[in-house]
Amino acid sequence: MDIYDVLKTYFGYDKFKKGQERLIGGILKGKDVLGIMPTGGGKSLCYQLPAVILQGVTIVISPLISLMKDQVDSLNEMGIKATFINSSLDHKEFIERLYDVKAGKYKILYIAPERLNTKIFINLVESIDISFIAVDEAHCISQWGHDFRPSYLQIPQFIKSLKYRPPVGAFTATATKEIVKEIKELIGLRNPIESITGFDRPNLFYQVIKVNDKFSYVLNYLENNYEEDSGIIYCATRKTVESLFKKLTEKGFSVVQYHGGMNSEDRQENQDSFIFNRSRIIIATNAFGMGIDKPDVRFVIHYNMPKNMEAYYQEAGRAGRDGQKSDCILLYSPGDIVKQKFIIQNSNFSSERETVMYENLQYLIDYCNTDDCLRNFILSYFGETPGKKKCNNCGNCLDKSEMIDVTIEAQKILSCVYRTHERFGLSTIIQVLRGSKSKRILEFGLDKVSTYGIMADYNEGAVREIAMTLTSKGYIEVTADKFPILKLTARSKEILTGEVKVYHKRYLIEKKIEIEKSVK
Ligand code: ADP
Repeated sequence: MDIYDVLKTYFGYDKFKKGQERLIGGILKGKDVLGIMPTGGGKSLCYQLPAVILQGVTIVISPLISLMKDQVDSLNEMGIKATFINSSLDHKEFIERLYDVKAGKYKILYIAPERLNTKIFINLVESIDISFIAVDEAHCISQWGHDFRPSYLQIPQFIKSLKYRPPVGAFTATATKEIVKEIKELIGLRNPIESITGFDRPNLFYQVIKVNDKFSYVLNYLENNYEEDSGIIYCATRKTVESLFKKLTEKGFSVVQYHGGMNSEDRQENQDSFIFNRSRIIIATNAFGMGIDKPDVRFVIHYNMPKNMEAYYQEAGRAGRDGQKSDCILLYSPGDIVKQKFIIQNSNFSSERETVMYENLQYLIDYCNTDDCLRNFILSYFGETPGKKKCNNCGNCLDKSEMIDVTIEAQKILSCVYRTHERFGLSTIIQVLRGSKSKRILEFGLDKVSTYGIMADYNEGAVREIAMTLTSKGYIEVTADKFPILKLTARSKEILTGEVKVYHKRYLIEKKIEIEKSVK
């Protein structure tokens, strides 16, 4: 059978998706491959299809223990003999499976990485013919990525230990250039055939919403959009998941929750309830979602900002796998930055890694504050050059809010950073500009600088808004640190000299003035 026959007979499809044919061709020629395809791009088929054609067993290394059974069941239904080995098996079952694999009963064997270097498994591998090793979710090997799994570090050792090294492939949906490089090096891919099919998901509508009352926003959204359809709401902490779950249940919505503090049966039950449409909405921490293949998720709302762009892209990317129009909405509040920094500070990372985490977080903060095209922002992050200046299909491109010229305000902010010798963070800069008499300002003598009090008429939020936008556009640099310091960049002078004008949404600045007035 040729690949088209196999595609039709086993998988029931007539055509390949982008990138699949190239990777499958590579695998069939005995080459290593690297497949970077967006969520829903059809990565699994790239190694499942050759497994049918090639002699021997294809080993698939996957971190998704809870999904292995489903994947294996659906392969068996299609007529492709598959099985899995993971910690859910007892010893007897484990031994039986090994025997069956040895007896040639299977074409595909899924295995969890922590099982690879057991003696018993190595012995098995030495006694069978392996056609291909597929490393799924390969980004989990990178310590710098958002989903590092220490067990993935066992993969290189396993591959090196093999007397005969079969072709190896790595597959993932999210990887920056640096992470791609790391995947190749660590897994030891040899001149791989690569297919990087791009990160654009044209059916996803990206939007950032700045609201104080997130709950009201969500209520309003759920009542007026995709009323019958499924969606995911991600929160940063278990506590937020629980409280939002309670509030939405009280309002009569069909919701379930999912977080790491629940026992595995409850988690599985809630996950199934969402996947099989018994519940419309799942409220979850980032523990939920990897490998979930629910095609008709119509919206992913982030109630809090996640930790970086890759995490955001992957979580938001769980919407619209079927290619239908879907929403990816990030609810932004500056308080979320504090939450994420707190998580970084309490994670005991090396200082080098902490710096990277702060840098990555800053990129996402910039995403939340940019008024440029959000899709292009994402594509640029992953190293793609966007084809157009505007996608005309994201919250920013379609935003009709009135813009006002804030060039003078921007100049004042930049001057203040300069006059205070690029030694302070945003809060201090704002205090200086607004003429604060706080002890800290007076102690540092900052009431003596020429920019002291030159924005006394503005409220804190407005100055912050403008400064954050300047950062998102590269006119201010923020150091990657627990207490980040603002610095000028090579481009700051374009604004200081008036060469470039800066605009901002009027409502974001004015509303804050009103709030402050009403408080007084
Ligand atoms: P991911 O890249 O996210 O792992 P999957 O491998 O789960 O994606 O595939 C996503 C969906 O696309 C699945 O439902 C799969 O059956 C389907 N699919 C894969 N290849 C094709 C194809 N050539 N034509 C149509 N649908 C496909």
